[in-house]
Amino acid sequence: MAKGERVLIALGGNAMTGPDGTAAPDAQRHAVEAAVEPVADLVAGGVEVVLTHGNGPQVGNLLIKNQLAARVVPPVPLDWCGAQTQATIGVLLLNALQRAMAARGVERQVAVVVTRTLVDGGDPGFTDPVKPVGRYFSAREAERFRALGQNWRSFGAKGWRRVVASPEPLEILDAAAVDTLLAAGFIVVAAGGGGVPVVREEGGLRGVEAVIDKDLAAQLLARHVAATTLVIATDVEHAMAGYGTPGERPIGRTTVAQLRAYAAAGHFGGGSMGPKVEAAVRFVEAGGRRAAITSLALIGDAADGNAGTVIER
Ligand code: ADP
Ligand code: MG
Repeated sequence: MAKGERVLIALGGNAMTGPDGTAAPDAQRHAVEAAVEPVADLVAGGVEVVLTHGNGPQVGNLLIKNQLAARVVPPVPLDWCGAQTQATIGVLLLNALQRAMAARGVERQVAVVVTRTLVDGGDPGFTDPVKPVGRYFSAREAERFRALGQNWRSFGAKGWRRVVASPEPLEILDAAAVDTLLAAGFIVVAAGGGGVPVVREEGGLRGVEAVIDKDLAAQLLARHVAATTLVIATDVEHAMAGYGTPGERPIGRTTVAQLRAYAAAGHFGGGSMGPKVEAAVRFVEAGGRRAAITSLALIGDAADGNAGTVIER
């Protein structure tokens, strides 16, 4: 990318938790430290970077703590868990990025913005929540949480899991703070975990129990900050056609129409690769120059369109 060009990089929550996915603190810190290396290279090359990140495994862990401690400490709502993970992952990113830049002789300030994302209280996700979060519990345990007003669903032999709404993100509400920090020369981390979901009601905003897809939120933020490029970094190098079948093959440089056709034919997992492809397509359709989906290690090449699944205007 050219000096002064802006890239929005979305770091995958699963790719940032260490190989076994348990999200132990050291594993998270190491994974974040590895993730920011290519980011620091871009910054050192004069590219303007805006970062966002996922939080699925981290929120899953917080929910387990809430659930196990429910008799002792009142469980906190899902939007609070989202806010907590923005702060913890944000601080890891601050430390790691400043360290990686210092190693390159680059001095830039970094800031994390606690970010709310507007959703519609009438989103179909709220009447029929389908996004499973947290771990499996027995029917008896699930019943206890259902009595608290939560939605739980049986997943057969595996047990019961809480299901929550995953409404469409409509607006990154704290984007103005991001603009101000960017104008002041900061590298900004924002909309972590897709943002804390809020609805508009008489008199103001209110947090709601939901999770927002971070890839869909990332493309909104990318458009808001007029990024030329969106890089969605996850734990695979490409989106695949025929994923999980013997004939699976990586999708390299492609087109919006081709990606839409693959999506319609069911090639991408719902809630995982599906929203990444949707985010990439929306960004380019809305005027973005390039969107790429790749692994953390290939962020730099993907930003130039030379790695991963790439679509260009
Ligand atoms: P992140 O935490 O980065 O958002 P996800 O787990 O949500 O990561 O999405 C990445 C995962 O999507 C991959 O690890 C893979 O298991 C899954 N996936 C589903 N469909 C595909 C596909 N067609 N090609 C590649 N990966 C896919
Ligand atoms: Mg994901």
